[in-house]
Amino acid sequence: MAVIERPREKLSTLDGVNLMFDIAASCLGLKESMRQLLRVPYRQIQVEVPIVNDAGELEVYTGYRVQHDGARGPYKGGIRYHPTANMDEVRALAAIMTWKTAVIDVPFGGAKGGVMVDPRRLSARELEALTRKFTQRLGDFIGPYRDIPAPDMNTNAQTMAWMMDEYGRRHGFTPGVVTGKPVELWGIRGREEATGRGVWLALDEAARQWDFELQDARVVIQGFGNVGSHTARFLHEAGCRIVAVSDVDGGIYNPDGLDIPDLIRAKNKGIPVPAYRDPDARRVSNEELLELDCDVLIPAAIAHVIDLHNAERIRARIIVEAANAPVSPAVDGILEGRGIRIIPDVLANAGGVTVSYFEWIQNIQMQAWDEDHVERELERKMRQAVRHLMEVAEKENVDMRTAAYMIGIDAVARARQLRGF
Ligand code: NAD
Repeated sequence: MAVIERPREKLSTLDGVNLMFDIAASCLGLKESMRQLLRVPYRQIQVEVPIVNDAGELEVYTGYRVQHDGARGPYKGGIRYHPTANMDEVRALAAIMTWKTAVIDVPFGGAKGGVMVDPRRLSARELEALTRKFTQRLGDFIGPYRDIPAPDMNTNAQTMAWMMDEYGRRHGFTPGVVTGKPVELWGIRGREEATGRGVWLALDEAARQWDFELQDARVVIQGFGNVGSHTARFLHEAGCRIVAVSDVDGGIYNPDGLDIPDLIRAKNKGIPVPAYRDPDARRVSNEELLELDCDVLIPAAIAHVIDLHNAERIRARIIVEAANAPVSPAVDGILEGRGIRIIPDVLANAGGVTVSYFEWIQNIQMQAWDEDHVERELERKMRQAVRHLMEVAEKENVDMRTAAYMIGIDAVARARQLRGF
């Protein structure tokens, strides 16, 4: 497998996604006109989101939704609440969703949304008001056959319940407008942990193909939210040794392995990772954590945490991109040159959108799937996608990230062509 040459310079998340698009489009020999069509998003929405805070004052936030491409089905993608959310980042993440839904082969396009807000500063009532107002502002641009949001950073099943309820005020009962809802409110069993389960399955299938022993493998995970904590649990159950985890406040490291079930219990009680008591663990910063000696490194928090400043110091043998865009494509060559394999985001974290697809089917058919069915179908789709991607990478002699983009772009370009212009 060869990494196609990339400029070694600091890239924004959007630059990184566009660079990968150009590389894969060149490998596919895609026409310039089609490149233009697929590079630029279909629609970008920016809205003001005013709320009255608990002190009775007006606060105004900015919300974004980018619908990147809908050739293969309704737009689909998460909504994040983050102080640095901005249009360029949302654009990049929307494009990633377009390629992801094609790679995992679910009939959706790609979208993403965000509100620039630090949700830790907001009370539950303020968060509800923000979510309802944002949903109102998105108006008819979302809908079960148009654009279907889901949870992402700092949003969860409760956020989706509010969105569904607010949308329903104008449109009537429409559970399929969002996925990742609470199970009691037409959500699907297994969605909460789906992304983490998918990360484990992607790693497990790739490890089989590479003859890499996962039993007792030393794993480091950055981010202990939905994706990070569930990934930790599945890998712990699979016999891996989770030696370090972190959240936004910092991390802890114990070379003998951390007690993951207990850490998750602590997290659910609201205890930050660095405050967790393990007499054999030492505290590490998020920067240090990424550079720890380990077999598998799983960044599950934010974008471009592995970049030119630290790529030479990463000591893992495999990186699994559980977050979106945690590794800048500018350093793929440096990592690959040092023998580090990368399982790219568009594949590694596709378990979430896959189970979202099952939830959506369940909602539009008014049926309920049992959990075994969800797990079996997710496993089948994840393993199939990993094998297919590895075959393409080998056949085309490209790295896994380029192969993933090639699969995604090819599928979307074909759909566009068939629809006509
Ligand atoms: P989350 O809000 O549940 O958890 C995020 C975690 O990252 C928290 O532990 C937080 O403390 C930590 N974090 C935040 N900023 C950090 C920083 N600067 N340094 C280190 N840690 C930091 O979010 P999530 O849903 O787990 O999403 C995590 C990543 O996975 C995001 O990139 C998201 O886009 C991606 N993703 C999520 C899903 C999903 O189903 N939730 C699906 C696909 C991809």
